[in-house]
Amino acid sequence: MSVVSARNIRKSFGPIEVLKGVTVDVQAGEVVALIGRSGSGKSTFLRCLNGLESIDSGEITVAGHAMSRKPAALRELRRDVGIVFQSYNLFPHLNAGENIMLAPVQVKGQSKASAREEARRCLAMVGLEDRFQAYPDMLSGGQQQRVAIARSLAMQPKVLLFDEVTSALDPELTGEVLAVIEDLARQGMTMILVTHEMGFARRVANRTIFMKDGIIHEEGPSTDFFTTPKTPELIAFLRSEIG
Ligand code: ADP
Ligand code: MG
Repeated sequence: MSVVSARNIRKSFGPIEVLKGVTVDVQAGEVVALIGRSGSGKSTFLRCLNGLESIDSGEITVAGHAMSRKPAALRELRRDVGIVFQSYNLFPHLNAGENIMLAPVQVKGQSKASAREEARRCLAMVGLEDRFQAYPDMLSGGQQQRVAIARSLAMQPKVLLFDEVTSALDPELTGEVLAVIEDLARQGMTMILVTHEMGFARRVANRTIFMKDGIIHEEGPSTDFFTTPKTPELIAFLRSEIG
């Protein structure tokens, strides 16, 4: 079953076309890594999947929702499609648990008691069961990002999109966040990961997509993709990333 189906997506900003016909299908339980140089259109593509950017042409169905510009339909879609960014955007005046409870209470109308239970469960999933009461400024960057992931999980999304979630972290904090994502992969969460962590992509993603200049330049099962890249552009990119 396709959880994400994007057909021939085109998107321009002014005169510049940044997505030039991108087609991606992701099956339930599949983990797909999206790699490519800065400016190749990776973030724009993820934002289109979540309806944060409108598309110029093409078709998107995510978690059973056909993409629409109607606010009510977009709200429905976003409940099922989580997105985690490089910046955590936690509210500084709310503790970790309260940050996680916010959307389930305000968006889903869940009771505070059940949202609190859900927040505890999600904090445990990211290894922070003992930090419910901690305010963001008491947490490391890695812990804050794990709270941000828990916040997405609390909405019980059908697919999670990750946009370079470790790029702002010191190397020693990157590992703990990647471990959480790897754990979610093992539990069967459907995910698209934009990442510069090539070793991680190779290990965790079933399939890797290399974007270049707004198109999918090369893709394949992660096992072959990194060992036997076919196009000179991917070979050059992998060399520069690992280099
Ligand atoms: P990546 O995530 O691969 O680095 P992006 O999707 O962020 O690439 O950007 C692709 C191109 O689109 C870049 O040239 C970027 O400057 C441009 N772009 C992205 N968002 C906007 C925007 N809101 N307005 C204008 N140009 C944008
Ligand atoms: Mg980006």
